[in-house]
Amino acid sequence: MGPPGAGKGTQAKTLAQKLKLPHISTGDILRQNISQNSGLGQQAKDFMNKGALVPDELVTEMLAQRINQPDIQNGFILDGYPRNINQARALDEMLKQRNTAVDLVIYLDTSEPVIIQRLSGRLVCSVCGANFHIENMPPKVNMTCDNCGGKLYQRTDDNAETIKKRLQVYLKESSPLIQYYNQRQKLHSLSADEDAEIVLNKIVDLAKEYRDSYKV
Ligand code: AMP
Repeated sequence: MGPPGAGKGTQAKTLAQKLKLPHISTGDILRQNISQNSGLGQQAKDFMNKGALVPDELVTEMLAQRINQPDIQNGFILDGYPRNINQARALDEMLKQRNTAVDLVIYLDTSEPVIIQRLSGRLVCSVCGANFHIENMPPKVNMTCDNCGGKLYQRTDDNAETIKKRLQVYLKESSPLIQYYNQRQKLHSLSADEDAEIVLNKIVDLAKEYRDSYKV
């Protein structure tokens, strides 16, 4: 977890590849629904364009369907959910029904100037969803994905006004989750202002430490 621009998507995608686990991003699933113009996409679109949260019932139902698929048997990396206490409770309940629980919550602590710089230059692949950045992580070929050759675009919610709103929503709705997971001894905070590779190494160390403690 962390504010918009903390690097949740970038880190979660790479970590999922390293650990060979599925990456489940509620934002990506919602954007997919919008591009397919599905019923869910139509319901979610206005909320997302305003920088508001999509109603809990919609997102929680969407996640419940996703974690019913067989590929999550060995676990998964969740990105963008939960976004408020209500969703955190719903997640605990969903996992409990499957005799499992959240292992680690990684909080990417990020300063405001870094957030603004990252979001205002972010580019996303329209085909595989990979993230790039105009300055920090430029693609090799202009507006073209290094991984799959797809066209890159700027997210409609990455504009100054919506970024401001998303930060407000984060502070009000999502930041109480820091305390929620801290109280449950699940939370691991790390500074995420550095380059993506440095942050990834810290996350991998945390994951290894957790895995080793589990083996003993
Ligand atoms: P993200 O890709 O995680 O930055 O999410 C982009 C937008 O999708 C957010 O600003 C919300 O409008 C919506 N969204 C993603 N995940 C959730 C969630 N768990 N609950 C409500 N809205 C969400």
